[in-house]
Amino acid sequence: MADRGADIGIVTALQANYYRVRLPGLSEVPLLCTRRALLKKIGQNIMVGDRVRVEEIDLTSLQGVITEVLPRCSEFPRPPVANAEQILLVFSLAEPPLEVWQLSRFLVKAESTQLKIALCFNKRDLVSETTVHQWRSRLENWGYEPIFVSVLQQQGLKHLQAVLSNQITLMAGPSGVGKSSLINCLIPEGNQLTNSVSGKLQKGRHTTRHVELFELPTGGLLADTPGFNQPDLEANVGELINWFPEGKARRLNQDCHFNDCLHRDEPHCLIRGDWERYEHYLKFLEEAIARQTQQQKRRGAENSLKLKTKAAGESHYEPKLASKTYRRPSRRFQQQNLPQSEEDL
Ligand code: GDP
Ligand code: ZN
Repeated sequence: MADRGADIGIVTALQANYYRVRLPGLSEVPLLCTRRALLKKIGQNIMVGDRVRVEEIDLTSLQGVITEVLPRCSEFPRPPVANAEQILLVFSLAEPPLEVWQLSRFLVKAESTQLKIALCFNKRDLVSETTVHQWRSRLENWGYEPIFVSVLQQQGLKHLQAVLSNQITLMAGPSGVGKSSLINCLIPEGNQLTNSVSGKLQKGRHTTRHVELFELPTGGLLADTPGFNQPDLEANVGELINWFPEGKARRLNQDCHFNDCLHRDEPHCLIRGDWERYEHYLKFLEEAIARQTQQQKRRGAENSLKLKTKAAGESHYEPKLASKTYRRPSRRFQQQNLPQSEEDL
């Protein structure tokens, strides 16, 4: 039966000029949609994660037309995902071993997106209960509630599923920790990437531009985010402290008196000191300051250059000409001032 109705759905993948849209409650299988030409004309892009209005729904051919993109709650740039609500960081307790600095870096990067953070540690089958316990209390001191799982032994997954249900979640973490294994175990077979898309899409899987939302049976969507996997901290120097929950709590509770305090060597700063990741804060702060200085220098250099565009459309920077006082007089000017003839003398 063909139905020509309209409904609101979620874009779960982009496929050439088509959009895969999931209509909750309407069909088990996603629709393959085109977008109304007007949307292109008004410059409205469509991202994975977008909530869209679909018209001309045909449940026989599983097609429809996207006619409107509803306002977004968030936009994640790399990979491009709209309306993501949380980030799931996946690490492993062993093989590869858990590296505190790397973990901290991922956490700070994740905090900088302002999305909620879920923190999952896989391979708990490889370590003792004592080790799990130690990590738990350590991470609680950092301000997190870690979830420990073993994909291999199917432990702790119910808790993780509950945290992921009914949300759009971006998953990130170093390689080898078990992210693919986790997807394979959380997503019903029919919805897994290997079974559901063409070879062409498969190829794009590990590029930062391609992204697909996997549907969780509990009603959430999960995206693998390869672009997030080498966290590069683009911290604003003054903001960095807020990306450490335990640092932020100290700032709020103890009320650092100085507006522009970097909590580094300012006298009487109460945030400095006795928390485990304080040294991470200092190291990342150093990096952020170095990056900021570099950016300022680059900006300064660009100001003394001007962009020249050649006919072929290539462009390059050239030093701006020195101000007039130092310029050689033009030949014409020189000629004008040359004695005109012998008689003038
Ligand atoms: P990814 O790079 O994060 O996608 O990691 P993979 O899913 O490819 O897993 C890396 C390796 O870890 C594979 O050999 C998995 O079989 C193994 N692995 C995944 N989960 C577990 C687990 O819970 N326990 C153990 N011992 N090994 C696991
Ligand atoms: Zn301070």
